Amino acid sequence: MNLDRMRHSFEELAKFTDKGEGINRLAYTEMERNARLYMIEQLELAGLMVRTDYAGNVIARREGTAPDLPVVATGSHIDSVYAAGEFDGTAGVLVALEIMRSLQDEEISTEHPLEVIIFACEESSRFGASTLGSKAMTGRLDPAYTRSLTDKNGVTLMQAFEENGLDLEEVHLAKRFRDEIKAFVELHVEQGPVLEKQGVAVGIVSAIAAPIRFHVHVEGTADHSGTTPMDYRRDALLGAAEIALSVERAAIEELAHGTVGTVGVFAIQPGAMNVVPGLAEMDVDIRGTSLASRERVVKALEQALEDVKKARGLDIWMEEISSETPVEMDPAIVADLQAVCEQQNIKWITMPSGAGHDAMNMASLCPTSMIFVPSKNGLSHNPAEYTSLEGLMEGAEVLRAFLLKQAQVVNE
Ligand SMILES: [Zn+2]
Repeated sequence: MNLDRMRHSFEELAKFTDKGEGINRLAYTEMERNARLYMIEQLELAGLMVRTDYAGNVIARREGTAPDLPVVATGSHIDSVYAAGEFDGTAGVLVALEIMRSLQDEEISTEHPLEVIIFACEESSRFGASTLGSKAMTGRLDPAYTRSLTDKNGVTLMQAFEENGLDLEEVHLAKRFRDEIKAFVELHVEQGPVLEKQGVAVGIVSAIAAPIRFHVHVEGTADHSGTTPMDYRRDALLGAAEIALSVERAAIEELAHGTVGTVGVFAIQPGAMNVVPGLAEMDVDIRGTSLASRERVVKALEQALEDVKKARGLDIWMEEISSETPVEMDPAIVADLQAVCEQQNIKWITMPSGAGHDAMNMASLCPTSMIFVPSKNGLSHNPAEYTSLEGLMEGAEVLRAFLLKQAQVVNE
């Protein structure tokens, strides 16, 4: 593989960005479409046959000597959040491209076909819905739901599809079938600090965490801050604060299971220096790869609600906003990736993914896992997001060796 060639591709792809800080390449925009066309061109130059499916996913195939065998696939996404960095998604796509180029250079043939997939609309930034391309590919897209989606300018997903020469009414045709794909592995930047902190080159993902989210509503009495004695108050903020701290405590209890709890939204009313807060509202996100562990944190949250309600005489209720199920990666694929790391003498750990990825949908279709590479300072969804290309190359070596092992080289 060629580091300079890969660096050049990063520089070229980064040019496809709308105005604003960092990378702005939102799903199904003209800019993202142009980036996709650039990638299609590059994949074709690397000798792959490229098609775009009914959801806008790019599927590039490198034919095998036994074309009827199921494909061994890799891929990621090139759409971004607002003010994104250069590596989220892009890393997995450009590593895949570099692997394909290297196979062409070395004239390596495989028995199974290989595939590079560029998933459409992985990020939720434009339509409030994530991993639409991989959901479509795995038959997990709800038609009624997709018809309801609009962006902040009022453009519907249906219109965005049309602008890309796609028809939302046909998106179900993007579904693929179980025997088509032998294995899928996505390389992605970690987006967290663990690999860097531990000085490890590669994370092999064992499971993808999923969140359960709640809206908590705490109602007390807004009173004059000067005239209301401390023992006559019903301070909504203080009750909510106790609940937030209980989420932290419960999640820390589950540290060994990797479950995390976050109060990321917290608003009080009326929000004046001279008024005891009468209303506090917060959104709680609890996620992990173990449902049982996640459930214990939820139970602790419910208990805190009861306790605070009683102790402070507040009116408190909560509603579930969403609940998704954690996804296990395929143990055989995980073991295979570990074996490859050992062979290549690359330092690795097995770890969960705290963020969602296209791989979590693909896992319903075929044996799936992910390779993580270090993110500098754990940063992502930020223009300062950075992964060194040397670090990326180590992940690329693992992915290449894995793909070749699974697809079986015929002429080495
Ligand atoms: Zn991503």
